[in-house]
Amino acid sequence: MDGWTGQFLRVDLTSRTHRVETFSEEFAYRWIGGRGFAVKILYDELAPGIDPLGPQNKLVVAVGPISGIPAPNTGKTIVAAKSPATGGYGDGNLGTRVTDQLRKAGYDALIIEGRADRPTMLVIDDDRVEYLPADEVWGKGTLDTNDWIYARYGKGVGVLNIGQGGENLVRFATVRSLEGRSGGRPGMGAVMGSKLLKAIVVKGSRPIPQAFPAEMKELGRDDLKAVRAMDKEQAWSVQGTDGVLPWCNEVAALPVHNFRGTHHPDAWMVDGERANAVRMATYGCPNCTMRCGIAVPDEQGRESEIDYEPVGLLGPNLDIYDMAKVGTLNRLCDDYGLDSISAGGVLSFYADAIERGAVEGEPLFGDAAAFARLLGRIANREDEVGNLLAEGTMRAARAIGHGSEAYAMQVKGMEISAYNCKYIPGMALAFGVSPMGAHHKESWIITYEVRQTDRGSYGRDKAQKIVDLQRVRGGLFESIVTCRFPWVELGWGAEHYPIYFNKVTGKDWTLDDFWPMADRIYALMKLFWLREYPETDRYADYVPDAWFDPDNADTEGPIAGMYLDREKYDELLGHYYDIRGYDARGIPTRATLAQLGLDAEAAVAEEYATLA
Ligand code: SF4
Repeated sequence: MDGWTGQFLRVDLTSRTHRVETFSEEFAYRWIGGRGFAVKILYDELAPGIDPLGPQNKLVVAVGPISGIPAPNTGKTIVAAKSPATGGYGDGNLGTRVTDQLRKAGYDALIIEGRADRPTMLVIDDDRVEYLPADEVWGKGTLDTNDWIYARYGKGVGVLNIGQGGENLVRFATVRSLEGRSGGRPGMGAVMGSKLLKAIVVKGSRPIPQAFPAEMKELGRDDLKAVRAMDKEQAWSVQGTDGVLPWCNEVAALPVHNFRGTHHPDAWMVDGERANAVRMATYGCPNCTMRCGIAVPDEQGRESEIDYEPVGLLGPNLDIYDMAKVGTLNRLCDDYGLDSISAGGVLSFYADAIERGAVEGEPLFGDAAAFARLLGRIANREDEVGNLLAEGTMRAARAIGHGSEAYAMQVKGMEISAYNCKYIPGMALAFGVSPMGAHHKESWIITYEVRQTDRGSYGRDKAQKIVDLQRVRGGLFESIVTCRFPWVELGWGAEHYPIYFNKVTGKDWTLDDFWPMADRIYALMKLFWLREYPETDRYADYVPDAWFDPDNADTEGPIAGMYLDREKYDELLGHYYDIRGYDARGIPTRATLAQLGLDAEAAVAEEYATLA
């Protein structure tokens, strides 16, 4: 089957056995790969209600038909499981050599089941599968673990590994690869840790199946050059993602002091220009010329690879305006294997809870050293506070009480990434309706909304735009599996991707052919959610109360006195449901599911909850 290897590798860590499974062409074209494969496998194979940190959960590592081929930014892999953070479907993508090595080994996905009886490193070398002891690095950070693996296998292998955060089941632990790549915000690192799986190493030696490999090679080479030229012209990778920080500050969208503020005069001290000025090294994912990973020095002069999101959350949101201090916190998150966005959100929530008197403690805001110590307590679940915060903001707020849930900046159990939507209704809704929790990767409507629309409006056009963006970002890119940045940042047209798809599969698809698949993925993520939470309602898609609170409105600056209107937000949510064909609870109707060819999946869901 051109475009896919046509095989999954299923590994059972409990019995240390594995088997190769094939999948049909119909399955391939229906779900494409990556997130599509993962959500379908997990929906079919996981019984609702299982403990995401128990052996019944499964970790899916999946690539897509254009993953790993020599075309712009195709070095990404999806890691997915039932999320320990949200209880729903969770995934993340990260740049890694696993992408091409897995395909060369002959697989489009790994399905990892069970639980090892000791810390284990899974090594896949074409047909050979080994379960090696990893006791030597259990308890060590991702940086040492990576070095330990490279010392054995060289740098050409694909590696996924976890740090202490994953080992200790921190609900926002991530999976790490290469020098600074990290993915799986909804706790995919904790799922690995729950299986005593410290690392996965993949080596492959076979060609990636393609219909027209020579044509693809030539096209890919030309397009890599073209993207590189666009990047050079636009200088995007000079500041990387942190280049957006001054804009967020200017338009009052920066998270400051646990999202209480939206801008700050010292924000420039941690912006992309400063990052570039102190740059120690540049990193990138395989098959990428944009290389957006800027390493800045931490307080000890060691490399810390930053992005806007971690800088926003570990910097201004904690009242820290010093690049080296942000670098220290960011490097600690990377080494512990904690999601740096969620970690920043958890720390700021706790600091706010202290400041408001909901819990006792010394003031934290602005104290980078205290936050650094707290990260260690969380990653190692060292004490009561570390344990509490390792559960994430939503659960910590429920335990603390005293009204703290109102300023727990999360949706569905995932911390909000670095866009303060006090007065950006469309972006707020994008966070709200993301079926994985408040992740910006699903629909980053913010620049369009602030620059090209009436910012404070709640029109149906914004709901439509969110759906459009979800289709491209969460549907197309997450299933063919490639990085979205050429499209987002350079304007590299989405029409390039069906061309690559056709070259590898031999089909004749256009962009429009991908949208039913994208909608199918979103509908199935929702059905996954419904089976876990049969009593769910539209309030699962609400953002924190703080954004609706007039008392929380800015007192000066561009959005002084502005806040989200609850009734209008609800109307906008209704538009989104209507466009998607979902009912008033936010669940796809039977008719929508039938139209998407999900009748069988709907019948399974109906065993647990009623569909409209
Ligand atoms: Fe990776 Fe950045 Fe390149 Fe995307 S643009 S592939 S995230 S290095």
